[in-house]
Amino acid sequence: MTEMDYYEILEVSRTCSGSELKKSYRKLAMKYHPDRNPDDKEAEEKFKLLSEAYEVLKDDQKRAIYDQYGKAGLEGRGMGGFGGSQNMDDIMDMFNSMFGGGFGGGRGQRRQANQKYNLDFEIELPLKFNEAVFGCEKKIDIKYKVPCNECRGTGAENGKLETCDYCNGQGQVVMKQGFMSFAQTCPKCHGEGQKVSAKCGACSGRGYHEEPDTITINIPAGVDTGNRLRAQGYGNEAQNGQRGDLYLTFNVAEDEHFIRDGLNIYIEVPVFFTKAVLGETITIPSLDGELELDLKTGTKDKEQFVFRDEGVKDVHGGGKGNLIAQVKIVYPKRLNDEQKELLIKLQESFGVESKPHTSTFESTFEKVKGWFKK
Ligand SMILES: [Zn+2]
Ligand SMILES: [Zn+2]
Repeated sequence: MTEMDYYEILEVSRTCSGSELKKSYRKLAMKYHPDRNPDDKEAEEKFKLLSEAYEVLKDDQKRAIYDQYGKAGLEGRGMGGFGGSQNMDDIMDMFNSMFGGGFGGGRGQRRQANQKYNLDFEIELPLKFNEAVFGCEKKIDIKYKVPCNECRGTGAENGKLETCDYCNGQGQVVMKQGFMSFAQTCPKCHGEGQKVSAKCGACSGRGYHEEPDTITINIPAGVDTGNRLRAQGYGNEAQNGQRGDLYLTFNVAEDEHFIRDGLNIYIEVPVFFTKAVLGETITIPSLDGELELDLKTGTKDKEQFVFRDEGVKDVHGGGKGNLIAQVKIVYPKRLNDEQKELLIKLQESFGVESKPHTSTFESTFEKVKGWFKK
């Protein structure tokens, strides 16, 4: 087996500059990248070879030795590509550090080469108030993307891609502004270095079709509007058959009686005025049943009563919030003659009627008059 020359592998001349070398390596490495050629041993070997060649030629000292003595010269000095090892992780590390991961990364952005969509996607899931408070099992209908068989997800007829003519397959273009030049991602191929010349008929060039699915998800107790849950492996399908993740963002409906504020629950308790005056123990609804509320004589309007640990369970496994009952004193809108008489009698018994002007405001009236005397 004859050994291929590093310059030939990288398709550059023996006198090429460092930047030409890098450009050519980028272009070829993108083409043979394992993400772009899943389960293709030949492409993987080619990718390794390219990386080995680049690893040597990008280093001036190694390049000089290689030029004079060849690969054997480097190995004799313990300076082969990647220290002589062919570790794929090292190669990927080098590639990723040079080109920033090459194919994007991060949540919601994971995407493979030539794939027209992200592997992760997000949907909003409406929940009833009690479903969020207590947790529930939810059956959800989703649609996820599967790469088109005909074009292997490329969107191109028979999967045939052409080298982008705008950037000559570099994926980058150099823009000049005055004496400065800037490298920019190619606007035509978006950095892929390749373009679709004829659209795939099976998927109209989209590169995927949508597959319906019904999934069952366990929603933990205590989730709230805006919380996100990752459903691992329910995202879109990649070329290699693996699926990304589905993110569920909750939108919790309001309840008619309970008002939720984080882990705390508020409830308004209407109390007829005579009960507030007399004091009484009343039964109020709680999240999981009933509670006894002890009204003292003279309970005030908007007075709050706190029931510890009767609120919402912390979704992160902490404790529980509180239930806060707020009194709303209810007065009769109309009185019949008998009620009127009874109330007047009641008022008289407190001695209020005989001195209509000696109210609690008497001294205040006097004070106000005093302000304008001078
Ligand atoms: Zn381009
Ligand atoms: Zn297709």
